[in-house]
Amino acid sequence: MTAAEVIIVGGGPAGSTCAWELRQAGIETIILDKQDFPRAKPCAGWITPRVVRNLRLKSDGYPHSFLRLDKLRLHFSGRSFSLPTRQFSIRRYEFDEWLLKRAGVPVYRHTVKEIGNDRDSYLLDGTYRCSYLVGAGGTHCPVYRAMFSELNPRRADAQITAVEAEVKCDPADRGCHLWFSERGLQGYSWYLPKGNGYLNVGVGGRSTALEARGETIRDHWAHLARKLADFGFADADALQPNGHTYYLRHATPTVQRDNAFIIGDAAGLATKDLGEGIGPAVESGIRAARAIIHRTEYSVKSIPKYSLPDLILPWRL
Ligand SMILES: Cc1cc2nc3c(=O)[nH]c(=O)nc-3n(C[C@H](O)[C@H](O)[C@H](O)COP(=O)(O)OP(=O)(O)OC[C@H]3O[C@@H](n4cnc5c(N)ncnc54)[C@H](O)[C@@H]3O)c2cc1C
Repeated sequence: MTAAEVIIVGGGPAGSTCAWELRQAGIETIILDKQDFPRAKPCAGWITPRVVRNLRLKSDGYPHSFLRLDKLRLHFSGRSFSLPTRQFSIRRYEFDEWLLKRAGVPVYRHTVKEIGNDRDSYLLDGTYRCSYLVGAGGTHCPVYRAMFSELNPRRADAQITAVEAEVKCDPADRGCHLWFSERGLQGYSWYLPKGNGYLNVGVGGRSTALEARGETIRDHWAHLARKLADFGFADADALQPNGHTYYLRHATPTVQRDNAFIIGDAAGLATKDLGEGIGPAVESGIRAARAIIHRTEYSVKSIPKYSLPDLILPWRL
């Protein structure tokens, strides 16, 4: 039996940030993750200044790909304009492992299946015991499934399906492009350069809207690939995209039950307008940790529901 004051299920940005905060307060914490890190996580890897601030990231202290974007090129039904902004791109393969190492807590490779109670503690698969349990396992988090799914049923119309591919290349265009509502998509596609010569391209949209139109996200991927070819990116057809689903924020979710918490995608916190999930994952991780440290209530109410204000006015942060 392995015991700790806090067990966090999932070592993505939500789990590692929560662990980082807890460890700094001297609280004994371990992370269980079903995958070895570094691991691939389908994600464009765009982060906002709010994420950089909350993680206290310094570009010169971060040893991997980190690119500052001072402008976005936005495309709506054939019309385009540039938005001056200040955003950043990272590679999730590097970023998540770096955050996990920085958290400085023991990480065990383990797929959590069963969660039970035993006197005043939580018991995971009969092997791990803790007083506080944090569910940071993403969309399919077992803590969400076992303890929160009835309180917060997932809403089909809040589900996003997205696919992306990340390649090492020398992109002709080093700007970031976003295409909205192409071919009636309730969502957008992206072309996002990274540091060290990487590029991420992808597309995401509302699952129910796709189904209603008899389409799949792969149809929209094919359209993006053709667009990228026109754009001077010759090999787009050969790319094999990876996909995943996650949930946009809808009502204020119930995120705490006794000493159990859910954070990040497990709580369905991605922003309603752009599906930004890393920022809410980081902020909810910090808040859950502080609630454990200070024995206060954990709430996600004031975590931003929209990304646009930070895109349009990043300087106010
Ligand atoms: C294609 C795509 C593009 C995206 N682009 C962006 C973007 O550019 N910017 C942005 O902000 N957001 C983006 N998002 C959303 C973002 O990726 C997520 O919101 C974010 O990863 C959530 O972090 P998390 O820590 O909650 O979960 P995750 O990053 O999913 O981490 C969950 C961890 O839990 C582990 N786990 C799961 N089940 C178990 C189990 N049973 N036992 C043990 N461990 C388990 C997993 O292995 C994983 O490591 C994108 C999503 C997709 C699909």
